Amino acid sequence: MATNITWHPNLTHNERKELTKQSGVTIWLTGLSASGKSTIACALEQYLLKNGVSAYRLDGDNIRFGLNKDLGFTEADRNENIRRISEVSKLFADSTAVAITSFISPYKADRDSARKLHEESNLPFVEVYVDVPLEIAEQRDPKGLYKKARQGIIKDFTGISAPYEAPEKPEIHLHTDKTTVEESANIIVEYLKSKKYI
Ligand code: ADP
Repeated sequence: MATNITWHPNLTHNERKELTKQSGVTIWLTGLSASGKSTIACALEQYLLKNGVSAYRLDGDNIRFGLNKDLGFTEADRNENIRRISEVSKLFADSTAVAITSFISPYKADRDSARKLHEESNLPFVEVYVDVPLEIAEQRDPKGLYKKARQGIIKDFTGISAPYEAPEKPEIHLHTDKTTVEESANIIVEYLKSKKYI
């Protein structure tokens, strides 16, 4: 390693890309609870890291309990939750990492704002609709949340007592009742390769 440090006041995104040999992108997974977002995000993140691509997953566990622990599930709080996640994922993408966000993100306007934020900075934004029929999500119910929502213990639960606005033109539309976790992750990988993002 050279001992004399030379530096620019600021690196452009393209200079950053040349140095890291990567291009940043945000993969925005949206869908009902238990549709498979986190599971697919984990598989995708591991595939990318194992293949030398810097990737990081943003999900409820590392965002809802940290940066956004002051927010609940009212519409205003959900908007603010997604706004902050959009800004953070944009920073990851700007750093040339692959940011993988896994949040229900039920409102179209919020997802469109996330897309706009990326587009304004010329950063690619890949919306992935992780689609599954509500009945199947409810059968899976890995955390027992649907049961609690049906009992009225959890209020404002997406699909039960709060709306989910399905994406109209997602870059990728997965049907997780028909594809395995590996197949879903692979569909995303193939898309990223086709666009030369990885
Ligand atoms: P979300 O993040 O969308 O709330 P999770 O990934 O936490 O969903 O939970 C989805 C559950 O469904 C997991 O327990 C997962 O193992 C299960 N599952 C069963 N089949 C599939 C599939 N084909 N794709 C994704 N998840 C599946």
